[in-house]
Amino acid sequence: MAHREGTRQIHVGRVPVGGGAPVSVQSMTTTKTADVDGTLAQVYALAGAGADIVRITCNDVAAAEGLAEIVPRSPVPIIADIHYQYRLALAALEAGVQGLRLNPGNIRKPHQIRAVARDAKDRGIPIRVGVNAGSLDRDLMKRYGSATPEALVASAQKEIEYLAEEDFHDIKISVKHSHVPSMVESYRLLADTVGFPLHLGVTEAGPPPGGLIKSVAGIATLLLEGIGDTIRFSLTADPVEEARAGRQLLEYLDLRERTGLDLIACPSCGRAEVDVLEVAQAAQAKLEEAKLPIQVAVMGCVVNGPGEAREADLGIAAGRGRGHLFIKGKVVRVVPEDEMVEALLDEARKLVDEGVEARIAAADDLAADLAAQDRQVLIDIQGDANRAAARRAAVADVAAR
Ligand code: SF4
Repeated sequence: MAHREGTRQIHVGRVPVGGGAPVSVQSMTTTKTADVDGTLAQVYALAGAGADIVRITCNDVAAAEGLAEIVPRSPVPIIADIHYQYRLALAALEAGVQGLRLNPGNIRKPHQIRAVARDAKDRGIPIRVGVNAGSLDRDLMKRYGSATPEALVASAQKEIEYLAEEDFHDIKISVKHSHVPSMVESYRLLADTVGFPLHLGVTEAGPPPGGLIKSVAGIATLLLEGIGDTIRFSLTADPVEEARAGRQLLEYLDLRERTGLDLIACPSCGRAEVDVLEVAQAAQAKLEEAKLPIQVAVMGCVVNGPGEAREADLGIAAGRGRGHLFIKGKVVRVVPEDEMVEALLDEARKLVDEGVEARIAAADDLAADLAAQDRQVLIDIQGDANRAAARRAAVADVAAR
């Protein structure tokens, strides 16, 4: 997928953003920044959940002082979030942050913006121009009548001009909106207008599941068009959830390498030979704990399960009181139903350690026959939902004519 490789590349600490770099995940702490230990604990939790960069508010002098202690102990680059008071941006720079976010809607005096740009430039620190529909510059609100995509982009452009007057170009931009179609249109317009890297987000998306759906709708739409270099889910939830969701989205879109579990499971139906939800939840808990970077399928019946999930690295399907364990669609073990989850975990570990070929070679000799028998008995009882055998016979018949 073309990922706006032509955009300028900036560095937030050691994390490259734009210019074809992997799309990065951001999140923001919810602790008081003056609480250094509490904030650091959250930064570590966010980094563990997949955040490449963490933003922390710098809303008063105590917060700026807190940053001075937090930044050197953080596992990931820290961006200071600045509103209203440009002096706090200068204080955050002195504290050693690796990035600033300025809101053009509430730091509006050109000499103040320029003072921050000069200091950031001297220190080699990038600035995000963080335009937000909810706090748009009031002059632009008057001119455009509402927070239209044109108004958001105009706000970003005005700020970029102030920064350019100080020859400052290490910029990334966001034009966040809480209305998903407006957010998407704003970023499309921005991508057509500037060559700076873009930070994507649906602002004030709200609690899950609605907040997650809005964020995915807006962010994924743009990423699939090749727009966006770094992302943040703004959820009303534990920020660990937003970091995890951001990382998962990038992995599901093949924009980042898989680092964790991708559990796929059938939705279950009347054919299910097991409680799919219960087995899937138990498997998810164990596999996530084991931190295995693998795609695993949990399927409710052996009639359709192994075929439908044949692309998965590993899967299990239920049938006649047994679990059929399969790798890339090939049955390798048949285990009692109450051992399905443990067997899945055991095989997942071995698969990650030894690889697909070795594990298929180590398959139980009897497994394929046993599985075929179970499957046939169920088809005889229930019928083949996909009528695969009949369809094959019909195709062969036509081909032979
Ligand atoms: S795999 Fe089996 S149980 Fe699951 S949805 Fe498909 S037919 Fe139903």
